[in-house]
Amino acid sequence: MLTPSLAMSSLSLYKDPKLSTLSIIRKNNQLNGDEEAKFEEKDFCQLCGVEFKKIFKPRHHCRSCLRSVCSNCSKGSGKNRMCDMCITEEENQELKNTYEGVLDQKQAQLEALKHRIINLDSKTEAKKKQLEIEKQNLQKNLEEKLNEAQDQLKDEVKKSNHLKIELEYKREELLKSTEDKSEAESYLTHKRNDLKIIQQKLADKETELAKTHAKVMKYQLES
Ligand SMILES: [Zn+2]
Ligand SMILES: [Zn+2]
Repeated sequence: MLTPSLAMSSLSLYKDPKLSTLSIIRKNNQLNGDEEAKFEEKDFCQLCGVEFKKIFKPRHHCRSCLRSVCSNCSKGSGKNRMCDMCITEEENQELKNTYEGVLDQKQAQLEALKHRIINLDSKTEAKKKQLEIEKQNLQKNLEEKLNEAQDQLKDEVKKSNHLKIELEYKREELLKSTEDKSEAESYLTHKRNDLKIIQQKLADKETELAKTHAKVMKYQLES
């Protein structure tokens, strides 16, 4: 790509502002189709200054600026002849157009890039906002879940405490009933012992009664 300073310096090498303005005016005259009437009739080339001679150095005319020029300082023939200055100027104009075209293109690319950056920025901003919202939602959700879990835990602790108290109560009841049972058992054992003693006494009495009865029988037989 051409840099502005390079393009400008290459233009200024060839360009005499006064002359180029003049040639543009003459170019406009050319459009009228009567340029031949306005040819400059000089005895020397208006570019290099060489003197014209009928056969060896003929006079030509540039169809663009209408100046008198020699064959060395012009190209083409007849209605297509142009002097080197006008050719250079045309080339410079093309160069300038190309340069301006490239410049416009680059400017447009730059604008497009700027727009893309702005779009990207706004997209990034939107994405950031969305992320922020998502983050807040997530946080809210987490807090809710945490509170829920804490409530559940509190309930579980309450239930557990309740169960503990109930178990304690049951244990005491069981202990009490066990005590009652062993008390009853010892009472029963005691009573059984009493019963055994009574039975023993009864047996002794029966034996005694049997002896007495035998004695009575013996006595009855003897008497
Ligand atoms: Zn010319
Ligand atoms: Zn010349």
